[in-house]
Amino acid sequence: MKVYRTIGEVPLREGPRALVPTMGAFHEGHLSLMRRAKQETGTCWVSLFVNPTQFAAHEDLSKYPRDEERDFQMAAEAGAEAIFAPSVEVMYAGTETTISVGGVSARWEGELRPTHFAGVATVVAKLFHIIDPTVAYFGEKDFQQCAVIAKMVRDLNFPVLLEFCETIREQDGLAMSSRNLYLVPPYRNKAPLLYQALLRTRERIRAGEDATTVLREESHALNDQGFECQYLALVNAQTLEPQLHTENGRLIVAAKLGSTRLIDNIRA
Ligand code: AMP
Repeated sequence: MKVYRTIGEVPLREGPRALVPTMGAFHEGHLSLMRRAKQETGTCWVSLFVNPTQFAAHEDLSKYPRDEERDFQMAAEAGAEAIFAPSVEVMYAGTETTISVGGVSARWEGELRPTHFAGVATVVAKLFHIIDPTVAYFGEKDFQQCAVIAKMVRDLNFPVLLEFCETIREQDGLAMSSRNLYLVPPYRNKAPLLYQALLRTRERIRAGEDATTVLREESHALNDQGFECQYLALVNAQTLEPQLHTENGRLIVAAKLGSTRLIDNIRA
């Protein structure tokens, strides 16, 4: 597996090239994207960059888990042929342009983390230009992020295909995330209740209960279980606007457990 640190080193593309953008601290969720990219396209490029512009000042940038050697080895084993792992300087020196994606980035994560999606869109746009992938793989775990990138690619006519892949979960249902490393035992045991709340919410709404009531009750139930529920919503899967029916819908949730913020989602 080749490791590239600077933009000038990245070789011009000669055929198809699949990209999996990541921030490292790999788990089975990341590896599943790499394996799928390799399987479907015969290629797999990975970018590993903890992007400072998508963290707010009070967030976990400085303590975000990093172990490059371990990540490189895992990516190579998952079939990656190349990894682009630039420094902040390489990515941003002199950069003054920001991409702001409209409506779809406004609510939910966008409301709670106002600068987050501009950071994500800008770094993904830069990575698309640097690596020039024909196809890029993202995880549905970050569902709103998928919608924001899809909108950016459509609006700005990026010549890249997007593949969104199912969330990989621990055996107890907890969506895998690099941030799960922050969950100390009492919280780690409680964390799967978030996924269970999504499943229960879906079951109740599908059974015909009033969606507004169910969402309110289930978010209160999360709070009673020790979470601080920030939102539990039924939204349109493309626009992320709230809706009260399950057709083309997604159930999305964000909650804090201690100081760790967890997000999850399922098809409605
Ligand atoms: P991150 O390193 O957290 O920025 O994630 C890199 C990519 O992996 C993003 O497209 C994520 O949505 C995806 N990803 C993270 N966790 C999971 C998971 N549990 N299942 C599938 N994909 C995931």
